[in-house]
Amino acid sequence: MDCLFCKIINGEVPSTKVFENDMVYAFRDISPQAPEHVVIVPKEHIKSANEINAGNVKYISAIWEAVPQIAKQLGVDADGYRVVNNCGKNGGQTVDHLHFHLMGGREFGWPAG
Ligand code: AMP
Ligand code: ZN
Repeated sequence: MDCLFCKIINGEVPSTKVFENDMVYAFRDISPQAPEHVVIVPKEHIKSANEINAGNVKYISAIWEAVPQIAKQLGVDADGYRVVNNCGKNGGQTVDHLHFHLMGGREFGWPAG
């Protein structure tokens, strides 16, 4: 399958790994929007949030279990951070493999633009 994040997971495309276990892979975003910006992906190809279901929601649980560990590793746990999922065209999704952005090291406004 021609999926960038599947290729990153299997090592075909290089990445800077931040975290990995049997279900989750996390790597530094190539175009960081914050001093710390990590992309967290499920090791199964799930296209977007629209494709989350009872059979694969365990990957979401695994990702959120990893979030505080990654935040601590990056040193952003105390000051806080933002986790974002972009879904589809209006959500700004550019890679069709479900992912969460974990960003920290600066303050983010709210509401988001
Ligand atoms: P999204 O716009 O939510 O689909 O996010 C996709 C993210 O993947 C963007 O923040 C990109 O900067 C990032 N990205 C694209 N290609 C790579 C790559 N080869 N390595 C790391 N991050 C990437
Ligand atoms: Zn994929």
